[in-house]
Amino acid sequence: MSKIVVAVDGPSASGKSTVARAVAQALDYRYVDSGALYRTVTWYALQQDRATNDAGRLAEWVHRLSFSLSTTDPGVVRVQIDDRLPDLADLRGDAVVEAVSDVAAVPEVRRVVGDVLRDMTRLGPLVVEGRDIGTVVFPKTPLKFFVDADPEERARRRSIETGGDVARVKASLQRRDQKDSSRHSAPLRCAADAIRVDTTGMTVEQVVDRILGCVATKLTNGL
Ligand code: C5P
Repeated sequence: MSKIVVAVDGPSASGKSTVARAVAQALDYRYVDSGALYRTVTWYALQQDRATNDAGRLAEWVHRLSFSLSTTDPGVVRVQIDDRLPDLADLRGDAVVEAVSDVAAVPEVRRVVGDVLRDMTRLGPLVVEGRDIGTVVFPKTPLKFFVDADPEERARRRSIETGGDVARVKASLQRRDQKDSSRHSAPLRCAADAIRVDTTGMTVEQVVDRILGCVATKLTNGL
């Protein structure tokens, strides 16, 4: 198969980023964080003082943006918009976190981001993490995983990462989960043919080994 894509979907703070990165490294594939791309679009909208809850205007605006791929780190594909690459700290800031689910719910934004993601396959095999990678962006890939963990565990993990209070982090995650799962366009859900991995109580190594084992089996069997 010329275009190999390992899709790793799941809700916020399910551990999918850590796992997807490690899987990409082990396979020597490039890692793509599609959430970072939605965050970059949101960051840029905020930079340009666009109303992030005005779906009509965002739909028209997103088509005027110029996206380019940056591979300064050879293992990771990052995306610049109009030649601007935000700091990772900007993408994790409260303003972006609170607005990103509204921006990501706009169908035109999803169409444009989906095209940018599909264009990345020209770089070689990919591990792509997100919410709709196995359902919408690469529905034909046979290498699909849905990584989840219980809400308490996810809040605890994210608060260790960001230093925030667990209850506050949990409320913010729940708000995003709710928006991401209930939106019309490409809601968060597990693809029918995805392998579901509940990471609650599992170590990162265990999850990575499980995914690598499934990928190896499928690749050996010619997918
Ligand atoms: O994965 P991360 O938390 O960085 O994603 C940020 C937001 O981007 C999600 O809450 C979701 O609204 C959106 N997203 C999406 N589809 C993807 C990846 C992320 O809608 N494939």
